[in-house]
This record gives sequence, C-alpha cells and structure tokens, in this order.
Amino acid sequence: MTPQRHKHYIAGEWVEPADGAYFASTNPTTGQAWYEAARGTQADVDRAVSAARAAFESPSWRGLSQTARGKLLRKLGDLIGEHSEELARTETLDNGKLLREMRAQLAALPEYFYYYAGYADKIEGSVIPSANTAILNYTQREPLGVVGAITPWNSPLLLTSTKLAPALAAGNTVVIKPSEHTSASLLELAPLFEQAGFPPGVVNVVTGYGSETGAPLAEHPGVDKVTFTGSTATGARIAEQCGSRVVPVTLELGGKSPNIVFDDADTGSAAMGIVAGVFAAAGQTCIAGSRVFLQRGVYDEVLEKVRDRAASIVIGDPLEPTTELGPVAFADQLSKIEEYVALGRQEGGKVLHGGHRPDLDLAGYFYTPTIFTDTDNSMRICQEEIFGPVVTVMPFDTEDDVVKLANDTSYGLAAGVWTRDLARAHRMASRLDAGTVWVNTYRAMSPMSPRSGFKQSGLGVEHGTEVLREYTRLKSVWINTSDEPAADPFVLKS
Ligand code: NAD
Repeated sequence: MTPQRHKHYIAGEWVEPADGAYFASTNPTTGQAWYEAARGTQADVDRAVSAARAAFESPSWRGLSQTARGKLLRKLGDLIGEHSEELARTETLDNGKLLREMRAQLAALPEYFYYYAGYADKIEGSVIPSANTAILNYTQREPLGVVGAITPWNSPLLLTSTKLAPALAAGNTVVIKPSEHTSASLLELAPLFEQAGFPPGVVNVVTGYGSETGAPLAEHPGVDKVTFTGSTATGARIAEQCGSRVVPVTLELGGKSPNIVFDDADTGSAAMGIVAGVFAAAGQTCIAGSRVFLQRGVYDEVLEKVRDRAASIVIGDPLEPTTELGPVAFADQLSKIEEYVALGRQEGGKVLHGGHRPDLDLAGYFYTPTIFTDTDNSMRICQEEIFGPVVTVMPFDTEDDVVKLANDTSYGLAAGVWTRDLARAHRMASRLDAGTVWVNTYRAMSPMSPRSGFKQSGLGVEHGTEVLREYTRLKSVWINTSDEPAADPFVLKS
C-alpha cells in the first residue's frame, strides 16, 4: 500500500513542498513507514511566514475583537474534542505511546483552548500615575506578530497546544514546525483551524527536518518570536540565533529530575510514583523522574516494590488496552538508550532489572524497564538525559545530603518528594532547584499551573496566566490632555 502523503498547510491550503521532496515517518511498533510528509526547505518557510505576516496585518484577524478571538479558540477546543479519538490513534501510530495515554491527553486538550479563550479578553493594560496631572499615561499589551513554534515528538499535540492557544489568544499568528517523527496529528488537525473560523494564514504548518525546516524558521527575519520545546542542545542553538536577531524566545528543554523518598513516606505510593515517573510513556517525557533517591531506612523496601512492578509491566502493542509499555519512538532513540545502558554498566552501575530489548513478536523499537543501582550521581547516566525507561537509584542519609545530590545537575525541570512530614515537604519545595515540585504525587499537570524549566531546562514559562507575557509586548502611551500651548523647551522655568 502506498503511504499517504501530507503537504504543508499554508494560508488555509495544502501546499506542495517547493522542491517536491517528501520524507517517510515510521510506526515504531512495526518499524514500517506509514505516511510521508513534505520535506520543507527555506522556500516553504518563507511562504508560511509571509502567509502568517499577511494574516497578522489583515483586518479579518487584526480587526477581530478580543472576545471574538476567544470564541474561535473555544470552537477549536470543541472541534478537537469531537476528533480526539482519531487524533489519539494517530499519535499512538506515530510515537508509540499507549493509546490509553494519548486518549487521556487528547481528551484534556480542549481545556487548553478553553482556558486561553477565557483569557483572550482579559489581556489589559493599566493607567500609570503621573507627576503631571495633565498627562494620561497608560500601558497596553500588544501581540508580537508572527510566532515560530518548533515542537518535539513525545506529546505532539499537547506540546503544540501549550504554545498555540496562548499565542492566538494574544492575537499573534503562528507557523508551526512539528517534529519530523510525529507530523501526522497536527496535519490532521489543521483543517479544524478554518472550521473553527480562524482566517487563513493565522495558523500554518510546515513539516520537515530540524536543520532544513526548523533552523530557517528560527532564523527567519519575519518571525517576531520563537517558542521551542525539545532538547537542550537544540534549544541553546535556537537561543543564540534569536539572540543575534534580538527576538524573544521561550525554551522548554530537557531534564534529569530527582524523585526523592524519605523514611517517613508511604512506601507503596512512593514506589508507584517512581514507576509512573520514569516508566510511563517509556520514559520519554521531559519530566521523567530518572534519578531516584531513597533514604536508607526505606531503600530496600521501596527498591523491591519498584523492581516487582517494573518486572510485571506488560510490554507490547500500544493500541492494545492491556499494554502498559509501548515502543520508544524511533530507531535512533532505541540505540541511544542501549548506548546509555552499556555506558552505565561500564561506569560501574549494576542492572537490577531490564537492560535489554524484550523478546516480542513485534519488530518495533521496544526496551525493557531498566533499573540501575550502585550508581553515583556524578556518573554520566545520572547526569545526562536518556529519555527512555531507565532509572538510577541511589541511597541518601539526610535532608541536606539529598538536596545537594538532587540539585547537582545542569537541569532543573521537575522534582518529586515523598514524605508525610508537612514541614519537610515545604522545606524541600523551596530548596529544590526545579520549576515544578510535586509532593506525594508525580506528573500532575494543568493548563492553569505555570511550567518553567530552571537552569538548562529552559527559559520563560508555559501554561498559566504568566505565559500571556511571553506572547505580548508592553507599550507605554503618553497623552497630553492639556489645551495649553507647549512650552518653549529652551526656556527654563525659574
Ligand atoms: P530535538 O531538540 O531533537 O527536536 C525538537 C524539535 O526541534 C524538532 O521539531 C526538530 O526537528 C527541531 N530541530 C532540530 N534541530 C533544529 C535546529 N537546528 N533548528 C531548529 N529546529 C531544530 O528534541 P526531540 O528529540 O524532538 O525531543 C526530546 C527533547 O525534548 C528531550 O530533551 C525532552 O526533555 C524535551 N522536552 C521538553 C519538554 C518541556 O516541557 N520541557 C517537553 C517535552 C520534551
């Protein structure tokens, strides 16, 4: 069967790539190509950015009231809700995450659009007091213009929506470059933009590889802001490009998050939190709790519980309702995991469970949940993001010790703490260098709660109300309300 071909979506139309080239995307469960997407180049990016600029200038978008913009976002949320089942299936076929998980994610997606729909007509300025009572000085928040959004493959539509919804609520237009591994769901969603009533060109999608399509978008002189989710290495390069053009950038990057269990914790819940933190989604989440620290009094007990649950995880086809762990998203990702596990062994780590591919009838990119003990936080497997179902487990003695260990990383995305001691919970929350801290839970997320990465995990904020600042610029307006003639500037009043 010939795989389906997807073109770019520009100015509300399906557009052939300028040089006619396409690339194949693979289903990670079968290892087979299942569709082709346009292989974008500079010319395609130019076209998409021009369309977004024209839409930004057009009265059909610029002239729309903020309330009307909110209505369009609400409608888009409704449409996504109606199509959530197909979109979830497509994401599972594209990145191998469990259909159950993608269903839950897609079912929650409309909330992002509803939340920012409500915000669209609450973007306000203020009146500033002035020493001169004849002066009216006020501020207004304006859209930035054309936003370039570059996204990864692990939660394609969720991580697109966290950018798209606030960017549109603020009145910008957008060009999105999805990951080359997972373009399908956004292309399927694209017609819904027009159905919701967004004028053509307000949202555009160009597909392709990072260097051929992503880089021209990040560097484009017509792009007024770049918002990026992906690896720290790519984010740093994009930040440099934006810096050289002096345009703002939001970066949501990698992590190596600590998940810490104290002696007084509910060990059963903590063990489940550890398993969910690193083995859910085959560890392919930026917030994976990939470094586990267990206080000595519960070390053996929690480790045993984690190992037992890891050993019973059902690995298989992510479309099957009984599967608990699907494949990782693509072949290079599997090789990267295998290299890190080999490195961990060389570094002296002991594999307590896993450490190999499972024996399955499926040809895709599967890996067993893997637990390393006898590791030291300075080892590379404890410092570098693996982005797979691999966890390192280390003991600790005191609160001070674990704070030092947990913060001893270049990342600062998230952290988990398991304790029944209320005072300790608050102390830990303030001492951990992480944009998100969970106590007695892990992986909780909401459009209402800000998400930001500290240190090399990012720059700026996503989710919540603060994000509106990332997509607007603040203008100060001074009006002289006096009818008095202007004074001669060179005559000083005595
Ligand atoms: P990646 O950096 O390889 O790619 C991300 C996107 O950037 C893709 O669309 C890719 O095509 C594009 N890209 C690659 N090189 C580029 C370049 N030179 N210029 C412009 N664009 C370029 O990351 P990935 O492998 O797709 O995603 C996994 C990473 O994303 C992990 O590090 C993970 O932690 C991170 N992530 C972070 C968050 C968060 O919220 N902090 C969420 C999900 C994933």
